[in-house]
Amino acid sequence: MTDRVNPFLGHEHRRPEVDLAEAARLLETAFGRSGIVRELGSHQDRNYLVAGADGARFVFKVARHGLSRAALHAENEAMRRVASAGLPFEVPVPQTARDGALVVAGTTSAGVTHDLRLVTFIEGEPLDEVGYLAPAVLRAHGALAAAVAGALDGFDHPALDRALQWDLRHASDVVAALASFVSTPARGTLLERSVAAADAALAPLVANLRIAVVHQDVTEANTVARRDEAGRPMPMGLIDFGDISRTWIAGDLAVVIAADAIHDVARPLQVAREVTRGYTSKLPLTAPEVAALWPLVVARAASVAISGDQQAALEPDNEYVGATRDDEWAALEAVVDVPFALAEATLREAAGLDPAERPLVKLATAPLFAGLGEIAALDLSTTSVDLDGAAIGDPGAAAGLVGRSSDADTRPVGRWGEARLVDATLDAMDEAATVHLGIDVFAPAGTSVHAPVGGRIRSHPGGLVIGGTVDVILDGVEPTVGEGTVVAAGDSIGVVAPTGPDGLPPHVHVQRVTAPGLDAPRRTVPSLAAAWLELCPDPSSLLGFPPDVAAAPLDDPAALLARRDGVLATTQLHYFDAPPRIERGWRHHLVDTTGRARIDIVNNVAVLGHSHPAVEAAVTRQLHLLNTNSRFLYEPMVAFAEALAARFPAPLDTVFLVNTGSEANELALRLARTATGNEDVLAVRGAYHGWTGATDAITTSVLDNPRALRTRPAWVHPVEAPNTFRGPHRGPDAGTRYADDVRATLGGLGSAGRGPAAFIAEALYGNAGGVVLPDGYLHEAYAAVRAAGGLAIADEVQVGYGRLGAYRWAFEQQRVVPDIVTVAKAAGNGMAVGAVITTRAIADAFGADGSFFSSVGGSPVACAAGLAVLRAIDEEGLQANARDVGAHLRAGLERATAGHPLVGAIHGMGLYLGVELIRERDTLEPADAEALAICERLLELGVICQPTGDGNNVLKVKPPLCLTRESADLVVEALGIALSGW
Ligand code: PMP
Repeated sequence: MTDRVNPFLGHEHRRPEVDLAEAARLLETAFGRSGIVRELGSHQDRNYLVAGADGARFVFKVARHGLSRAALHAENEAMRRVASAGLPFEVPVPQTARDGALVVAGTTSAGVTHDLRLVTFIEGEPLDEVGYLAPAVLRAHGALAAAVAGALDGFDHPALDRALQWDLRHASDVVAALASFVSTPARGTLLERSVAAADAALAPLVANLRIAVVHQDVTEANTVARRDEAGRPMPMGLIDFGDISRTWIAGDLAVVIAADAIHDVARPLQVAREVTRGYTSKLPLTAPEVAALWPLVVARAASVAISGDQQAALEPDNEYVGATRDDEWAALEAVVDVPFALAEATLREAAGLDPAERPLVKLATAPLFAGLGEIAALDLSTTSVDLDGAAIGDPGAAAGLVGRSSDADTRPVGRWGEARLVDATLDAMDEAATVHLGIDVFAPAGTSVHAPVGGRIRSHPGGLVIGGTVDVILDGVEPTVGEGTVVAAGDSIGVVAPTGPDGLPPHVHVQRVTAPGLDAPRRTVPSLAAAWLELCPDPSSLLGFPPDVAAAPLDDPAALLARRDGVLATTQLHYFDAPPRIERGWRHHLVDTTGRARIDIVNNVAVLGHSHPAVEAAVTRQLHLLNTNSRFLYEPMVAFAEALAARFPAPLDTVFLVNTGSEANELALRLARTATGNEDVLAVRGAYHGWTGATDAITTSVLDNPRALRTRPAWVHPVEAPNTFRGPHRGPDAGTRYADDVRATLGGLGSAGRGPAAFIAEALYGNAGGVVLPDGYLHEAYAAVRAAGGLAIADEVQVGYGRLGAYRWAFEQQRVVPDIVTVAKAAGNGMAVGAVITTRAIADAFGADGSFFSSVGGSPVACAAGLAVLRAIDEEGLQANARDVGAHLRAGLERATAGHPLVGAIHGMGLYLGVELIRERDTLEPADAEALAICERLLELGVICQPTGDGNNVLKVKPPLCLTRESADLVVEALGIALSGW
């Protein structure tokens, strides 16, 4: 991107007129090499990819006419210096020509002389071709820029004291010189506004900006990435030292930010924060440098945008320029719209600096209303027990609370810093503006409002501002004072408006803004909340409120995670690297404490949906009456057991009640053993059946226990997993082929003089990611095990309860009736409810082992929950919904993933689906790291998903059965976006 400031125009700026044939001739003459593969993109020079005979690859560079040779030498020296600094990044290494020089002159057939160089090519893909840049990638990009700047520390060269077009010290001159090239008047206005804002902000800072030799062009286009094990493109190399010069160090980082922001114009500051974190983790910046960063980002974005227009005017057919212009203008608009004060506060935190000191202002205050009275803080947060899930996204839901808390002596208030449930949005990919930056004081419409502080009145879209040493925004007021009026604390300024701001009942929203004139919103997105709350601090003191009453308590998920790690075993894993703190669920949505709602596709436990009112009511009612152990006579136990048994085919008519799936399977094994007199158990490979002694023994999944196959006791006999995607048998006779292994295993047992107690399997292979068993498999396996004297156990802990849509129980899909069925998870919609359903004869045989008692298995409360679940599934038609929405979701997933190299298969049926990710079609190598990274990406996009399977590579899709088509569509869209990064 290099050129001199003066002249900016004319032929010197045009790229060398060299075609491929000419380039080949020049390369051969100067460097004695051939093998030009193709031309590489460049704004102003010519670059060619050269393949050497030995496999090594180079870039042949033809500098445009007029570029100083000394500058090329300086570039070469810089590259050599960085290359030898031992960094974990590569840079091009200049190669010597035939005559031993690093720069050689070559003359084209048209008689124009150009300086020629050959440098090593860095293998990888340019970061700008990647699309989505994950936070870790952004941090690595910042770290790369800092590492290179560190390696150049102390480097100098006389040629580097040059005034380049890209030197941000000259940005406003450059923009002024090129302004006539601007492509539309609107862009012209944007350009002027941007440069004026950047100049004004930089003026007081420039004296304190450090200067050094820096690369100054660490853009995503010049950054070479290679995929890490999760398939994320990690910056590995840096090319194009053509803009290296002695300039502001902070400008070097601003270039990275401006470049990366193009990839996410909706969130430029969040991008900047990650890049700055990465950069300053290697190279600290001073406070003035951090303050200058955003104005420099704006200046850079302005020069890039106008240079694009200029280049397009000079070279209309240079595709490299044309393709990016709209994006560059969009990025400029996005960065200049970020308030500079907000950027500074955000980036100070990212750079590890303390918040800027703000002078303490002590203001004379007066009550907002005459006879303000006591204040009562409302809890509108995500953890509020005063609101139910239906209040999500419905500020009107606050009205009831306001009404209940108001009386002659009490004023309800909405808290400052509160992430409010009523502002969350469902089925959204982006975070909502949930965090309130002011205090809301509720009062009837028409109540007279008094100035809490003195100052000059300014109008404001929602009310008015009292301007002084700090600004105080008062929204929700119909002013009776005009613009410019100077008021004193206590003066009457208006009345409470008939409708309150933000859809809330009438109230005055009081917001303190420390940077006068700053255009602050009333509420903001959680990702920018910390900086906004710093700029708009708690206004309690202006209102005469005690500070801890009207301010929401600080929410710190990282601190909670540290407490969790401190007290719980590390083997009790948690989802996600930096898990959101989730304290609320509603239907198939989970809401974190920042008010971000996400679609939950992992929770088969909450089969009805989260916070189901019927379960809540049943449990509350029962807790009110009685909860005790199961040896008493009470109706809920009987009613639940009857309802459960009624949902099974004959002869499954007898129920045991326990608490969990592990317990249910443990009991199932004991039942089988006493009924048959045998010990041995056949279990399919890759299975999970629980964590207790015996269920862990039959858990053959190496994901859950890497030692599972080595340490299993002699009574466990794993059989081939009936997986028609991964296993050896995939054709129409697969069921019989897998059953062959069951028969062979039983045969082996028989020859050893032993008989089986049971064969246990999930009737749809949930733990493998929802793989439907091949036709006939269970039919043959059950027949074989029964013929050998054993029983058939179906583990329906994950897949039962109507989830498959077409079937209530997965064994129905296989057209079999097991001897013993286990259920849990869904059975209590999150309450501990598990059950074993079997025949009277098998249950009675257990008497030989004594009695059965699980203290709270089958407790009144568990049974009340269990019964409510069964009823709600029927009443709400959830099985039919699983069938319909499941089919819709499956079709969408198939469409969105078709042809994607990472997607091997979509398994399952109804609302038990699995998206299996693989690295290669031939080997089916599980893409496990990718699966985890995609789940992290889905979390950003508003979907909660986790991988499963022995390879931990199948995205499990098993949402609450109330999933809607809208939510299913969003899941599909999010997965499409997530996959587009890979
Ligand atoms: N069986 C299967 C198929 C399961 O998926 C699980 C739980 N993941 C269990 C049994 C054990 O259930 P619980 O965690 O309730 O003990």
